[in-house]
Amino acid sequence: MRRKLVVGNWKMNGSRATNASLLQGIVDGLNGASAACAVCAPAPYLAQCADTLKGSPVSWGAQDVSAHAGGAYTGEVAASMLADFGCTYVIVGHSERRAYHAESSELVAQKAVAAIDAGMTPIVCVGETLAEREAGQTAVVVRNQLGRVLERLDADGMAKIVVAYEPVWAIGTGKTATPEMAQEVHAQLRKQMLEKNAVAADKVQILYGGSMKPDNAKELMAQPDIDGGLIGGAALKAADFLAIIHAAA
Ligand code: PEP
Repeated sequence: MRRKLVVGNWKMNGSRATNASLLQGIVDGLNGASAACAVCAPAPYLAQCADTLKGSPVSWGAQDVSAHAGGAYTGEVAASMLADFGCTYVIVGHSERRAYHAESSELVAQKAVAAIDAGMTPIVCVGETLAEREAGQTAVVVRNQLGRVLERLDADGMAKIVVAYEPVWAIGTGKTATPEMAQEVHAQLRKQMLEKNAVAADKVQILYGGSMKPDNAKELMAQPDIDGGLIGGAALKAADFLAIIHAAA
């Protein structure tokens, strides 16, 4: 039985002051929730997350990582540095990075491996654009995106990733995939991993992301292959984020 996981992606939002009340609000409202939860903060605030969340049930992580171990890569942040600040997770291949920073699936795969090598869990994002969905290409797009990561991992490595299915057309738009639409893609992703190794594939949490909110979270996460959520906008308000965590039975 996979434990549900709810992860907040703060994107480029926050300040020391707003983070302090958001983090405290989350910790105070958890009340023994059964789902695991984490926040992925902008890199400058990871120390604040570590200071505030250490010893609490809330994990923290980053939104991107360099594929390189270190050296002359101005502006990049190495996986070892994120691990140094206690990060459990790092998001790789978010559609905003693929679209605005031209990240290829090959680079995303390298980043996933860098995260695993540093002892963290990469949250590997995959998802189709609206044009790709309308052209009937969803299955092949997400298969190729995940495939590039899987080809670099053995079964043990595969068991160390989290996958997030995030249809690009649903991110930040208020449009959500129906539970059935999402489950269809999640089941396909699970099957792709099963082809590699059944035991490991059964362990991998597959999150849904794309306008998940308190009022649609329960239905989405009731699907057999939807193991939680990657939450953008609704992760910026403690009450909304907590409602989603508590909806994950
Ligand atoms: C995201 O950024 O990963 C996301 C799912 O955003 P939102 O929940 O705002 O659609």
